[in-house]
Parts: sequence; C-alpha cells; structure tokens
Amino acid sequence: TYVVTENCIACKYTDCVEVCPVDCFYEGENTLVIHPDECIDCGVCEPECPADAIRPDTEPGMEQWVEFNRKFSEQW
Ligand code: SF4
Repeated sequence: TYVVTENCIACKYTDCVEVCPVDCFYEGENTLVIHPDECIDCGVCEPECPADAIRPDTEPGMEQWVEFNRKFSEQW
C-alpha cells in the first residue's frame, strides 16, 4: 500500500486524488490520507504528488505513517 507522509501537511494539491482509480484518498483539514485496505498498490499517485509526500509502505520508517493513514481514513 502507499501512504501519505508529512510533506502533505498544509499542501493538499489533490492531484493524487484525481488519478486514484479506486478513490481511496480521504481529505481532512490539513492533509490527505490513503485508506490502506482500499489502496490497490498501483503507484499511479506517487509521481503526481508535487510535494513527494506519497511513499510505498515498504520504505523504512513508514510504520507510523501507515497507522496515521489508517486512523484518519477511518475517521474521515
Ligand atoms: Fe490510489 Fe493507486 Fe495511489 Fe493506492 S497507489 S492511493 S490505489 S492511486
């Protein structure tokens, strides 16, 4: 799955939202998040992000961002 990380905060260009084939982005006041169970891991959103905020969860140190994305995508 892909996750939205800190560079998204207060950015929210939403270019990624437009390209996601399964519509799994959720929008909060200051950031976007990806629902980890809905993301199909296609990777289309990653190059669309002008802030380089979307990362694959396989990168080191992503655990906290997976939790962040899960928590808020269920809340929003
Ligand atoms: Fe959507 Fe694909 Fe990005 Fe997952 S990787 S959030 S399915 S565009």
